[in-house]
Amino acid sequence: VGCGTCVGVCPQTNLEINETKMGHYLPSEQKNNCISCGICYATCPARFMPFKFETEFGLHEKCLNSSPLIGEIQDTYLSKATEQQRAAKGSSGGIISSILVYALENNIIDGAITVGMSKSSPWKPIVEIAQTKEEILKNAGSKYSIVPINSIFRSIQKTRLRYALVGLPCQIHGLQIAQQYGLNKISDRIVLTIGPFCGLNLKTTAINFLLQKIGVSELSTIRELEYRHGYPGRLYVKLAKSELFLPKRDYEFVNLLFRNEGCSFCNDLTNELADISVGDIFCLHSKDPVGIALARNKIGQHILSDASTAGYLRLNRINRDEVTKSQYTGLLYKKRGAPVREYIRMLGLSKETSIHDTSIQKNPPTGKQLIFEIIQQKILFGKINRILVAVSKNLPLRFVSFFYRKILVILFLIGKYCYTGL
Ligand SMILES: Cc1cc2nc3c(=O)[nH]c(=O)nc-3n(C[C@H](O)[C@H](O)[C@H](O)COP(=O)(O)OP(=O)(O)OC[C@H]3O[C@@H](n4cnc5c(N)ncnc54)[C@H](O)[C@@H]3O)c2cc1C
Repeated sequence: VGCGTCVGVCPQTNLEINETKMGHYLPSEQKNNCISCGICYATCPARFMPFKFETEFGLHEKCLNSSPLIGEIQDTYLSKATEQQRAAKGSSGGIISSILVYALENNIIDGAITVGMSKSSPWKPIVEIAQTKEEILKNAGSKYSIVPINSIFRSIQKTRLRYALVGLPCQIHGLQIAQQYGLNKISDRIVLTIGPFCGLNLKTTAINFLLQKIGVSELSTIRELEYRHGYPGRLYVKLAKSELFLPKRDYEFVNLLFRNEGCSFCNDLTNELADISVGDIFCLHSKDPVGIALARNKIGQHILSDASTAGYLRLNRINRDEVTKSQYTGLLYKKRGAPVREYIRMLGLSKETSIHDTSIQKNPPTGKQLIFEIIQQKILFGKINRILVAVSKNLPLRFVSFFYRKILVILFLIGKYCYTGL
């Protein structure tokens, strides 16, 4: 999945992670001093999701508010930053950035592990430690691309500072597994985890394709790039002499052409193991930037309510069903589809399962679910996908956007038909 955990946990600092031509991140040996401890493999969230750990070791305080679709929740809120600048800079109301600024200004953390854009290559997202309010705000906004954030574990374990980690579900899983393996040098450094929801992530080649489609032939002319500028958000590219905008619906086709394959086996959309999870609530059709904040445990609950009392955030309690409603498509893909795809992978490759959803053993997939998932995987990955990308390169953006939007809708409708009763 390109989370970077293996690089961050290697006791020999033997691993590095590099981007491949296909737009993935893959680890490789750097110093050839491996001691075969196996910790890189053991902590890989692509092979193992720590949900079982949670119930076995009681990681989170048990609460009655548990749902198989969105996990354990203490409180569900509609939220946004109180400060206009923070709300506008963020993707869904600047909730995450506001929590980070609150935690920093109130001596809860010394820094935040965030994703910023590279100075030398402004179209490339990179992991950065933000240590001031300005740096947190500079790194606000979603970057829809893989960033091997957890590789930063390598350097934070050399410090005695306290960090917040903003990580996608795979990154939070990686940290949780590292904690369970007693890698205290890492887990002691991270005092707060904030998890954006994640329906899927994109290969790094997605942005290059998009840039080419909107007419940016020279990457060196890019001065600034935002994946989600304004609310609900447009792609924004500042060039040496001009600016370009592309509404989000016009580039959603990248979700079909450049989906990261590892994400199709993950069944955590709402970042169930973070202290606080944050996502969009598009079903409200609000013109004002706003999002959902879920307090998962006591730490999350305290931080959210204290940040609100201190005037950093607005919080309005909402019914947890709103979360399921607003994330319906993603939940269908992750909670219903992922176990079936895992089942197909096991059948085909006799590989060990990475998913701890035992419901699949109790309820094996139906024939129509199997056929749907096999066809969907063929469209999204592998040879057919490569042909679609190659053909689309030479077609006008309008056509590509229209055509694949329709395919995405058709896939959703067939999926809905195959998985009744979400
Ligand atoms: C790849 C991806 C997929 C997502 N999928 C969904 C979805 O299906 N449904 C949904 O409701 N929401 C999804 N989100 C979350 C949503 O886009 C917002 O990030 C979230 O609502 C928080 O908004 P905010 O305004 O509170 O955060 P902000 O204040 O804008 O802060 C965002 C924080 O996220 C960090 N960040 C940005 N990009 C990444 C990244 N690639 N990896 C890790 N951290 C990052 C930034 O450094 C920043 O600290 C996704 C986000 C990403 C990055």
